[in-house]
Amino acid sequence: MCRFRTLKSGLCGADMRSMASLSLRARSPVARWQAWLAAVGVGLALCAAAASAAAQALSAQLLELERAGRAKPQATAAELERLIESGQGDAATQLDALLLQGWLLANVPSADQAEAVARVLDARFVADKDPLARAAALLVRARVAEQAGDSVRAGALIDEALVRLPADATALNRLRFLAAQAHIRNGLSKFEDAIRIGHEALTLADARGEAWRRAEARADLAYNYQLAKQNARAASLNQEALSIAQADGDPMTLARVATTQAIVLDALGDLDGGRRWSLAAIDYARKAGAKYEESLYLANLADSYLKKGEFATALLHAQQALPPARELKNLNAEMVALANIGLAQIGLGEIDAGKASLRRAVDIDERRGSITGMAQTYLEMGQALERAGDLRGAIDALHQQRTLEDQVLTRNQQKAILELQEAFDNGRRTRELELLQRQSAIQGEQLHARTLQQRLWALVAVCGLLSLVVAALLMRRVRDTNRRLADSNAQLKAHAEIDPLTGLSNRRHFQTAMRQLAADGQFSGTIFLADIDHFKRINDCWGHASGDAVLVEIARRLRAVLREPDLIVRWGGEEFLVVVRALSPEAVEALAQRMLDAVGAAPVVHEQRVMAVTASIGYATFPIEPTLLAVSWERAINLIDTALYLAKAHGRNRAYGVRMINANDADRFDAVARSLEAAWRTGDVALTLLEGPGRDAEFTAGALAQAA
Ligand code: GH3
Ligand code: MG
Ligand code: MG
Repeated sequence: MCRFRTLKSGLCGADMRSMASLSLRARSPVARWQAWLAAVGVGLALCAAAASAAAQALSAQLLELERAGRAKPQATAAELERLIESGQGDAATQLDALLLQGWLLANVPSADQAEAVARVLDARFVADKDPLARAAALLVRARVAEQAGDSVRAGALIDEALVRLPADATALNRLRFLAAQAHIRNGLSKFEDAIRIGHEALTLADARGEAWRRAEARADLAYNYQLAKQNARAASLNQEALSIAQADGDPMTLARVATTQAIVLDALGDLDGGRRWSLAAIDYARKAGAKYEESLYLANLADSYLKKGEFATALLHAQQALPPARELKNLNAEMVALANIGLAQIGLGEIDAGKASLRRAVDIDERRGSITGMAQTYLEMGQALERAGDLRGAIDALHQQRTLEDQVLTRNQQKAILELQEAFDNGRRTRELELLQRQSAIQGEQLHARTLQQRLWALVAVCGLLSLVVAALLMRRVRDTNRRLADSNAQLKAHAEIDPLTGLSNRRHFQTAMRQLAADGQFSGTIFLADIDHFKRINDCWGHASGDAVLVEIARRLRAVLREPDLIVRWGGEEFLVVVRALSPEAVEALAQRMLDAVGAAPVVHEQRVMAVTASIGYATFPIEPTLLAVSWERAINLIDTALYLAKAHGRNRAYGVRMINANDADRFDAVARSLEAAWRTGDVALTLLEGPGRDAEFTAGALAQAA
């Protein structure tokens, strides 16, 4: 039994990627700007050169790992794992590393680990939307299915992988995918397809130029031709492969080419040559450290002895092949070794033992679901039993083979249905992935919209806050302005109600005060009206300025004899009105006397002029005894003015106070006020007379005037 499995050569590492050259063209007329751009350009070029060098080193490392991975897939996959975890390289290099890792794990074969890598590739596709990631996942799964003996599934997956392989995929990736596809086509006995694809792969391998790829592409194609029974073509192609491999000297390449050489020579009937190359292949595999291949080639070796009827040697080799095959979980090798043991045993006459060994070989294929494999084993078993003379056993075996081939037919129909299902599932999966991508895009948009909304609200909040601050500032300003306005209004008002010369209140202020003091139109309190005697003469003798000085001084003196709450008003030119709260008659007289004295006791001195001044005063306290008739302040002042007139008329420098007046109504009051002196004589009015201070004749204004 001879079941060669020319394991697919590896995937290559990353293609050399030339970094996009960065060119900056300074168009600005400003030289400095150009220089700056040039400096940035040089910096970028340096960075690009450094990144490019690192990327190239990593790519070269991956290529080397791909070459080494053919012999030692497990160890190389572990090394790749470390490389991937280190996070080196750009996204494309990382993807290359994953693809290679998945491929090697499928070759180990380690279906679970390979599937885990395929899932990582799926996730990459969803995250990066790189179609190569999806194609790579399919390639890994195709190889896993092929290793498990499920060629139909492998075929569907690799075809899908090639459909998904992006148009701009590197030549190297196309080569990897095509080589895998050709190999799977062989497993499906679609030799013409395999040859067509193999030629395409050969062209790509030659374009790349690496010896191991060129040699393996030729050996693969030679194997295809041999399966298609074109032995001459197979021989010449493999001869080319052999020359390239020998010139290169890589033991793994030589092991593979030697295996094909053995197959081709066997097919040509050169059994000795075939055995020589089989032994050479085992040697090369050992040298390369390729345990898996070594166990398979060992199992195959027995075949050449079987063909020559050397059953004892065949049995020996087949038995030697069994332990390493089991150790490496190489089901192919184990099955071939068991089948060859069985065939050798039958050849040696140990019919039952041989049948038992062959059934164990069939069991392996049955477990893997390889009906074709089972049928092939029963066929060889029948032929061997026939040769050994066990015709009954031979017929049984051939029956089994026939039944299995019928099953293959049915199963092929079922598989056609399964293929359809597979294609449907793939389509659905693709749609699901696309849906997922769209969802993630929509979520991204929503997130963006939410962020914008949040920013808008923040802006609105800031604007609101600013408006509040501005409003507060404006309000404060308005308040300040209002306060200042009120202040200046108050000042204006105050100024409007103060006599600028003497600083006393003026008539306007008096009226305001009276509106409050006599709000009900009736006045209560004591009023004095003082008029400076012969003031005109002071002006005339000493000038107007001296007159002013006298007015200022008299105002000061009056203020000095009065209290804070008393109201002193400059009533006219040299007339002063004093309003105090209602006082007792004694207190009123005392105050009137103090005022006469304050004005006239001492002369006013101004610019070395000594001016004697006296005043005449009229006064009264309201309401007036005995009727206590309520009168307005205007009537009250009229009465006092008359009293002042009396004082003037009776010699000046004196005060006349109205102590009592017989008037029950306003008319009577007015009549009495008009003829005060007459009413005094009739007793309708009682008056008080107070004399001013005695004067030194020489100081009187009149005397001075006469002197002048
Ligand atoms: P009598 O004793 O009768 O009151 O005589 P008199 O000279 O005081 O009489 P009269 O009331 O007729 O004169 C007041 C004078 O006072 C007239 C005016 O020129 C003068 N006078 C009025 N206001 C001022 C002022 O603000 N400054 C000065 N220097 N003189 C004023
Ligand atoms: Mg006067
Ligand atoms: Mg006067």
